[in-house]
Amino acid sequence: MARLGARAKALVRAGGEVLWPSRSLVSGARNIGEGALSPAEFARLTFISQPVCDTCGQPQEVDLGEETVCAACLAKPPKWGAARSALVYDEASRRIVLDLKRSGRRDGLAIMSNWMLEAARPLLADADMVMPVPLHYRRLASRGFNQSGWLAAGLARRAGLPLRVDILKRVKATPSQGGLSPRARKRNVSGAFALRKGKARAVEGRRVLLVDDVLTTGATLEACIRPLLKAGAAGVDIVTLARVVRARDTSI
Ligand SMILES: [Zn+2]
Repeated sequence: MARLGARAKALVRAGGEVLWPSRSLVSGARNIGEGALSPAEFARLTFISQPVCDTCGQPQEVDLGEETVCAACLAKPPKWGAARSALVYDEASRRIVLDLKRSGRRDGLAIMSNWMLEAARPLLADADMVMPVPLHYRRLASRGFNQSGWLAAGLARRAGLPLRVDILKRVKATPSQGGLSPRARKRNVSGAFALRKGKARAVEGRRVLLVDDVLTTGATLEACIRPLLKAGAAGVDIVTLARVVRARDTSI
């Protein structure tokens, strides 16, 4: 009985760790009691909620009803169908994203996948598969993991959709997009992605849900979308953990 009790306690601890990691995801402070996010830290995160631009997911100041498209998307429609993100990319969410990318911290993945599932909900019914933005094999070898792959796996499992990491590959090891202008970002990732040999049929006529950690200008995501559409994909939608939110925007 005592043994069973100890085992049950261990299980509760293990389960609790999944929901509430013992080190804060935001501040990095250890032993904050509740776990990943203290109520104050949770409050610092900005979750994106309606109304958003139907195409890019940018929050809109005024709710003009369903299928509102922002001025930027009207002026230059992106290659994706719709993009949704869970969080505004700001100081609070930056820590989470960088921890995931630089130190491979996995204990918040369950929570992040749940946030992304909620953000992606309007897109799930049409999706045939979930796919992460791939890393170049050399970067994958040196880093040891692809954080977008982890997020995509968590989302696919929760959404009950197949995860495909065998279709798209990164053929150019491009420098980081950080600090580059939108135009330079586009040039930097142009032609960086391609389909693996013999995989065109896997996407032909199918709708792909493409996953990345952060949506900034969308240049990397569009570079991924190009070969997918060329191979006959019916469409590509985007889900990211966080997105950069433009300061001012006009709804039309
Ligand atoms: Zn938009």
